[in-house]
Amino acid sequence: MATVQVSDLRKSFGALEVVKGVSIDIRDGEFLILVGPSGCGKSTLLRMIAGLEDISAGRIDIGGRVVNTLSPKERNIAMVFQNYALYPQMTVAQNMGFSLEISGMKKAEIDKKVAEASEILGLTPLLQRKPSQLSGGQRQRVAMGRAIVRDPDVFLFDEPLSNLDAKLRVQMRAEIKALHQRLASTIVYVTHDQVEAMTMADRIVVMRGGCVEQIGTPLELYDRPDNMFVAGFLGSPS
Ligand code: ADP
Ligand code: MG
Repeated sequence: MATVQVSDLRKSFGALEVVKGVSIDIRDGEFLILVGPSGCGKSTLLRMIAGLEDISAGRIDIGGRVVNTLSPKERNIAMVFQNYALYPQMTVAQNMGFSLEISGMKKAEIDKKVAEASEILGLTPLLQRKPSQLSGGQRQRVAMGRAIVRDPDVFLFDEPLSNLDAKLRVQMRAEIKALHQRLASTIVYVTHDQVEAMTMADRIVVMRGGCVEQIGTPLELYDRPDNMFVAGFLGSPS
């Protein structure tokens, strides 16, 4: 587990500034959801935390350590993407163990980590299957398994459920919440789905146009939205 502090973070692509001075203090073990309309800078912000995108200005601390110039690997985070990015030629077990293998971990230890993660995710009977033999929900679990085996300090999710049908999405929300409770991990989770944000988050960050509009618990944002945008976006009557 770890805190994540984002301080006056900025990102420009050429002349276009897409993250405009964002500051967020994420607590140890918190489930924080970034929500906002498409194009408001959620993925860019997440990718900067992950180290997949250079920052233009500002500072990121993970676990009290400035990580601005650290590689993704050195940050001890794990990211789960919307398209799963599984290796089609590998089995479930190989997909889950691959990052450990390239980091030089011994096979027996990899097998143990994979067994633990697949137990948590209900993937044990599927370890020898290929991704093409899995359902959408099972693929999403494998993608989470790949993150869990690495014991990251922070999990980053970028719209992990957006490729699933409505019924499965509801089920996976509950599974991810249960996972959060079990691992007591710090999670930063991006979605454009208001219901997902309201039902899953400890706190929600509402973004618009590269800026933070408001940060608060689902109830706070619903009861006391700072402005019409937050009220409208989260479906509050006021
Ligand atoms: P969101 O995830 O909230 O939908 P993004 O962070 O993906 O938004 O994108 C924010 C803005 O930055 C968009 O206008 C997008 O077109 C732009 N953008 C994202 N990545 C790049 C890039 N590599 N080059 C240029 N513009 C980009
Ligand atoms: Mg995005």
